[in-house]
Amino acid sequence: MRHYLDHNATAPLRAEAKAAMIDALDRVGNASAVHAEGREARAAVEAAREAVRALVGAPVGGVVFTSGGTEAIHAGISGLANRNVGSDNAIARLFVSAVEHPAVLKTAEATGLPVEIISVDANGVVDLQQLRSRLADNDDGAPFLATIMLANNETGVVQPIRAAADIIHDAGGLLFVDAVQAAGKIPVNCTMLGADLMAVSAHKFGGPIGVGALIAAPNLPLEPVLRGGGQEENRRAGTHNVAAIAGFGAAAAATRDDIGRHTEITAIRDHIEAAVVAEGARVWGAGVERLPGTVCCSAPGFSGETQVMALDMAGVAVSAGSACSSGKARPSPVLTAMGATEDEAKSALRVSLGWSSMMADADAFIAAWTSAYARVKARAA
Ligand code: PLP
Repeated sequence: MRHYLDHNATAPLRAEAKAAMIDALDRVGNASAVHAEGREARAAVEAAREAVRALVGAPVGGVVFTSGGTEAIHAGISGLANRNVGSDNAIARLFVSAVEHPAVLKTAEATGLPVEIISVDANGVVDLQQLRSRLADNDDGAPFLATIMLANNETGVVQPIRAAADIIHDAGGLLFVDAVQAAGKIPVNCTMLGADLMAVSAHKFGGPIGVGALIAAPNLPLEPVLRGGGQEENRRAGTHNVAAIAGFGAAAAATRDDIGRHTEITAIRDHIEAAVVAEGARVWGAGVERLPGTVCCSAPGFSGETQVMALDMAGVAVSAGSACSSGKARPSPVLTAMGATEDEAKSALRVSLGWSSMMADADAFIAAWTSAYARVKARAA
């Protein structure tokens, strides 16, 4: 029996999403074709668009389907940075929080524009005072884009986006919000948060891997990153991936229906946290608002990699705090930005719960983790 506690990496596919995908795969038709088959495919795409729009409070006509969160981030940041280049309306600089996902940091760097990093405090919350004063220094009136994520992938810390949006808009800028970890896990309303652009991804909350969306009001000019056909109102070319989009829509509708499980997921998380804290671990961002299902903790003398391996052998899937795609562990820049020492960053573990998590998963984690840590402590004694 396995216990999957790595929802922030990828959540298990919801049954509703799988059924919608199978249904779509059984049909033929390009969603841009005018015949009946094409119109049916288009209807599936538009139903999914409405479900995603409702999930994140996007403006009407403001959902652009992409191949995932990374592409949505690229389409938003590069799409803005590349528009009106050479004119007074061109984006002149970017402000990026210190805890952004590499997809944001690397895309920002690749624009070639000056990128200023805004610090976070010891809880991982963006320093709004610093944001305000940096923007006040930016007094040449040139357009700028600020990028702040809604919830952090490693710690689950939720940022004060509404307050940041007011500061950014007062200074004449635009705000991009990476909501990849937040959407489907906490209520998200793009319009009420004041986000001009937002990225979401299906596989973080029970939809398929490889589909996401850029949220941007239809009147916000963006230079398309993918050119070719006129799909997605000329904002993202390429034949629609109907099955993936249908799965995304079904997952979005299902996650809205079980938003009531968040209290239960928080209780499961708190059970895990109490157990690791009792053994001497430190929980990152414990004092501030976080995703209901994310625990990021550092246990002295117990490296993240060792924890992941010991738990895997005991049937529990989790990630090291510095989960990274290359497989090479390095201290997490997110925890480092929060003031973690190298040892703390290297001993970080991320346990992430989601729609399918149960108290029995937490109990299995606690039993495996405490006995593995006891062995490490005994060896060190
Ligand atoms: N942004 C955040 C905060 C993430 O956690 C991730 C995925 O880990 C991404 C962006 C990238 O999303 P995708 O895997 O859909 O490309």
